[in-house]
This record gives sequence, C-alpha cells and structure tokens, in this order.
Amino acid sequence: MKYISTRGSAPALGFEDVLLAGLARDGGLYVPETWPTLSREAIASLAGRLFPEVAVEVISLFAGGAFARDELLDMAKAAYATFGHPAVTPLVQIGSNLWILELFHGPTLAFKDVAMQLLARLMDHVLKRRGRRATIVGATSGDTGGAAIEAFRGSAAVDVVILYPAGRVSDVQRRMMTTPREPNVHAVAIDGTFDDCQALVKGMFNDHAFRDRMHLAGVNSINWARIVAQVTYYFAAAVALGAPHRPVSFAVPTGNFGDIFAGYVARRMGLPIERLVIGSNVNDILPRTVATGVYEKRGVTPTTSPSMDIEVSSNFERYLFEAQGRDSALIRAQMAALAQSGRFEVKGGPELLSRDFAAASATEAEVAEAIRRTREASGYMAEPHTACGLIAAERCLPPGPVPQIVLATAHPAKFPDAMEAILGERPGLPPRLFSLMTDEERTSLLPNDLAAVESFVEERARAGAERMA
Ligand SMILES: *Cc1c(COP(=O)(O)O)cnc(C)c1O
Repeated sequence: MKYISTRGSAPALGFEDVLLAGLARDGGLYVPETWPTLSREAIASLAGRLFPEVAVEVISLFAGGAFARDELLDMAKAAYATFGHPAVTPLVQIGSNLWILELFHGPTLAFKDVAMQLLARLMDHVLKRRGRRATIVGATSGDTGGAAIEAFRGSAAVDVVILYPAGRVSDVQRRMMTTPREPNVHAVAIDGTFDDCQALVKGMFNDHAFRDRMHLAGVNSINWARIVAQVTYYFAAAVALGAPHRPVSFAVPTGNFGDIFAGYVARRMGLPIERLVIGSNVNDILPRTVATGVYEKRGVTPTTSPSMDIEVSSNFERYLFEAQGRDSALIRAQMAALAQSGRFEVKGGPELLSRDFAAASATEAEVAEAIRRTREASGYMAEPHTACGLIAAERCLPPGPVPQIVLATAHPAKFPDAMEAILGERPGLPPRLFSLMTDEERTSLLPNDLAAVESFVEERARAGAERMA
C-alpha cells in the first residue's frame, strides 16, 4: 500500500517510510492511496478476540506487508503488556446505552500510550532492519510527550526531544517527561503555547537540510501509524457492543483531531458508526467549523483539559482532503489562507461537515457540573477531557437506542488539582507511579525560536553526530 500527501507534491511512500517520516516533505500529511475495508463477516469475527489480535487485523491492512503477521503480533503483545488492565481498553457501563471506553491504562495514564507503545516497537524494528538511527522531535500539549518519552526511553536507535509549553502542562504530565533518566530522552520547555511548539516542530521538518542531517522522525498524531493504531479500539469496542449487527456511536474528546480521525477511518473501513461526536472545551474551533463551515482561529484559552487547548487541529487536514474530493490544490490554498488570515472556508460547508460529524463544546462550569453529576449518578470519576466527551454525547444523542461510547482519554489521577477542586477528593496515582512526584526532574527552557531549538537538538541527538564522525 502506498501513501500520498494531502498537499500533493511529496513523493508517495510505503508504510515503513511513512512511519519514519511523520510530516510529508511538502508540509502535508500522508493518507493511504486507497482505503482498505473489512467485510461484515470479518468485523463479526473480531468478537471475543484479544486486543493485540484485533490490532494485527486492522494494522496489517495498512502496513502493506512491511511486517510478517507473527512479528506484528509479537510487537502488539509486548506493547499492550505494558497496560494495567487485561482488556487493554475496557468498556465500563455508566448508564442505559452509555458506556465509557477507558483508554488510560497505559504507563502514562492517557490514551496516547495505546498508539505510542506500538509505534516505538514498529520504529525500532524498521530502524534495526535498516541499520539506522533516528531523532524524534515532537510537540506536546501535555500527554503525547510523556507517552513518547516512556515508549522510547532507553532505545538504542532513537533519540527523543519533546517540546512542551512552559507552565501549561500539569505537574504529573511534566514529571512524566522530566523524570526518566535515560540519556536518549529530553524534555524542553518552550516559552510559548502548544501551537508555538507545534510550529517549531513543523519548522524543523520543513528545514530539509536539518531534517536529513538529523534523520528526523515524527511521533505526533500527524504520524500515520499512530492513527492506525488508534483505529483498533473503535473496532474492539463496537464489536463488544454488537457491531456489525447493530451500529454504535462514539463521542471523542478532541484536540489535534487524531483520535476522532481514527474513528472516521474505522467508519470508512466498514464499521457501522451511527454518530461520531466531536467534544471540545471552550476552545471550540471545531464545533464552530461544523456549524458554520468556516475554520477560524480566535486564540487559545487555557482550561482544565489542556490536551484540548488547541486551535490548529493538524489531522483535520486529512479529513478535509478526503471530504473535499482529494483536491490538494484546494488544501494548499486553505492552509495558506489559515497562515495568512487565520481562517478558511470548507468546501461543502456545514452540510458536508455535519454529515460526517456532530460536535459540541463545554464551558469550564459545564465540565465541573458534568463531573459532579456523573460521580453522583453512577459513581464514575471522569476527568475534564472525558467530561467534554460526556457533555458532547449528551447534546448529540443519536436517534434510537444506539449504544453511545464516550472515549475516556486520561486517568483522573493525571489532573489531581482539577479533580480536587471539582469533587473535593484527590484521585490517587496507581501504585506503579508512586515515586513520580518525588523523582528528580531534568528539563531545559528555550525561547520560541527555531534556531535555538535546532541547535539544542543538534547538540543532544546521536544521529547527526554519528554521520559527522
Ligand atoms: C491528546 C489528548 C486528547 C486529544 O486527542 P487528539 O487526538 O489530539 O484529538 C484528548 N484528551 C487527552 C487526555 C489527550 O491526551
């Protein structure tokens, strides 16, 4: 299977190269040239299978023979053995027709682990096969960084440099990035927002000389392999609740649009998803876009759900490419307009967007109220990102008795201050993370400046040094 760029001028690549590349050389994102599908029988046969087995069924359709099936299964088993729950992503019923899909049982307590633990193994495997090293640079609004550092710590083939917005991630999130001692992982605080961090990473990838010299690889949700790895739990959860014989709906706390795009992919592959609901906090650029057909930046407000404090949702470009008829000239024009004037219009407008998605945003007061109400009604403790999903699910009910599945993207213990302020109780960290809050931290602070960040990466990473030696 080949992958093409949304911007139309980067070379088509196979799965292994897309895995290592992250962003395409023309600034676009890779998407499969054609969409694979699973028949109803194939979907039905996923019922009762172990999570790593479902992962292999899904991923092998996209990997185009890059891995032998038993190699892939071994990697998936190893990746998901790091999870603290035997079902990997268990479903919890909290109401009639209302389910929580807990995606946070991995080592950093956020759904990013589901994809990252597998991605690290796939990358190591490919690099080993090619006798190469790579330097991973990534931006994080909180959870990606910890998941990447955790997944790659100690890797012989990969160095990791993660940029995070200084002062805008929680203590637990920061410590997950700054406490690992392995010399191949680095957390860097940037004096700016998440969007600044993301722009710096894009800047490094667009500096082709630097990109080649350092063998840059990306693990942000722009990395196609991460999206694919997230498709697995849509299938696993839907089948557990009766798909393909009955449809289900998903509500997804959304930031960079990676997770919900995986749901869109699952639907394209044949999974009967009745409604795909975007849940946002007050940073409501996506619900506004669905309602008006205009994608318009208005600035980011910090909230109790920091991983959704985003207004450049990178993966939305993948959706636009598909929904607007794979017109890369149009994508280039829209992205240029966004860079210049902070807005662009979606061809097809709200009619097109609302055919594929429903969307709702929640204020901070509504998030707090939903957390309290959920706790009282069912005993369930949802953290603020998940609460945005719960609110969106409530406001965008599917017609008829379709099971609604809300993705729980983080463990409440990742946001203890917010939870204590809202519920008056402080969720405890799982025992395996007890030393996190006392371990020594290691971090660097850099200005929002591409040259400064590039020289930091150049000094720390082994890929460039090795080439010069
Ligand atoms: C990353 C993240 C999100 C947003 O996911 P996207 O794929 O970026 O849309 C939501 N909640 C939590 C807890 C996250 O870490």
